Amino acid sequence: MPYDDVLAAFDPALGLEVHVELNTASKMFCGCPATFGGEPNAGTCPTCLGLPGAMPVVNGKAVESAIRIGLALNCDIAEWCRFARKNYFYPDMPKNFQTSQYDEPIAFDGWMDVDVDGETFRVEIERAHMEEDTGKSLHVGGATGRIHGADYSLVDYNRAGIPLIEIVTRPILGAGEKAPEVAKAYVSQLRELIVALGVSEARMDQGNLRADVNLSLSPKGSGTLGTRTETKNVNSFRSVERAVRYEMQRHAVILSDGGSILQETRHWHEDTGITTSGREKSDAEDYRYFPEPDLVPVAPSREWVDELRGTLPENPTARRARLQEEWGFSDLDMRDTIGAGALGLVEETIAAGATPQAARKWWLGELARRSNEDGVDLVDLAITPADVARVQALVDDKTVNDKLARQVIEGVLAGEGTPDEVVARRGLAVVSDDGALGAAVDKAISENPDVADKIRDGKHAAAGALIGAVMKEMRGQADAARVRELILEKLA
Ligand SMILES: [Zn+2]
Repeated sequence: MPYDDVLAAFDPALGLEVHVELNTASKMFCGCPATFGGEPNAGTCPTCLGLPGAMPVVNGKAVESAIRIGLALNCDIAEWCRFARKNYFYPDMPKNFQTSQYDEPIAFDGWMDVDVDGETFRVEIERAHMEEDTGKSLHVGGATGRIHGADYSLVDYNRAGIPLIEIVTRPILGAGEKAPEVAKAYVSQLRELIVALGVSEARMDQGNLRADVNLSLSPKGSGTLGTRTETKNVNSFRSVERAVRYEMQRHAVILSDGGSILQETRHWHEDTGITTSGREKSDAEDYRYFPEPDLVPVAPSREWVDELRGTLPENPTARRARLQEEWGFSDLDMRDTIGAGALGLVEETIAAGATPQAARKWWLGELARRSNEDGVDLVDLAITPADVARVQALVDDKTVNDKLARQVIEGVLAGEGTPDEVVARRGLAVVSDDGALGAAVDKAISENPDVADKIRDGKHAAAGALIGAVMKEMRGQADAARVRELILEKLA
């Protein structure tokens, strides 16, 4: 169904649940390292393996990060709250319950303003609560890496117990046609806030930040909420946008045919851009939550909360205004930069020495093109802001020209090393040495006698043809300005 027809008949309602994996040194309830990866099951202990009699202890740094996230999202911070057991069985959750928070989250009733195409949407935050991550299953022998068709499964509990903060929005209404963009902008700007807080690596491609996307449609103007689906673990900004758009169209087709939406989780398929059915999920699903008896309540003093409030980064709206002023960007430049999810990248590239215009040119030009082609977010490209600043420095000192700079970027993205290493390995440096250039210029003159005569007659505009011949001879690596000078000198 065409997107415009969806909007003519329905109002979308969004809801986003984002899990943020904290970058604490140790896990949420034990002293094991909170680093994912390494030898499977090496980073475990009786507590995070859920062995009988093991006793959990709350990680103070994780509570601090949770409070700072809550404050940055304009939430109230609970004076007293408890952890709760969420009971369900899952092979990668060895205790058979997840220690989470239920009716007493650490942070609640907040909001975040999201900029989309120069318009501001206020997203209300229902809650931000603390919980722990699960382990990771590895399904071996199947074609897809999924459990279906696998010969056997292995489980790695290194991730079990890593601190998570789950941030849940209230239903986001009124976004209309911009619902997919609002969802993407929310996750992207939330990530920027998390990075500014320094509480997580916040890499979506590594699973440090994971978004579940809820969507429902209601008849246009009805003011009701329709039945929602929850698309799980959408792992890039662009996928968040695509998943919302896909679900809007899927719901609309079913509802227009008189069908009804099944309340369920959905799996997102990055390659095909569709969602498929997961498991049925009712609101009344009973996890038998009860207060965790092995942990004392968390009761952060108001003094501590105020102290943490003093450690917050600049608020995002003020920050955007300040950066726009400092960089001299027009409203449109700024809007495009934010829309591309490049604000932080541009900022870091400038900090690494590039001018604002150069930083913006690379991230919104060549790199945006590459991220579209490869279907990855800008932040997930294999190039750092420092690399981009270095590429621009190589252009500025005339080691490479713009065209060669694009090849340098291609090399960095292909994992060939730093910009300087790519220049050396691929032999990309511009030649401005008169010896090498002179020979190529002489060759071009002797092969194009008519053009040479025109230049001798004072028609300097004709030099372009000879410069082109020299560039071709030298595979684009000649210093064009110096070539022009040499041609004019030789034909004076
Ligand atoms: Zn442990």
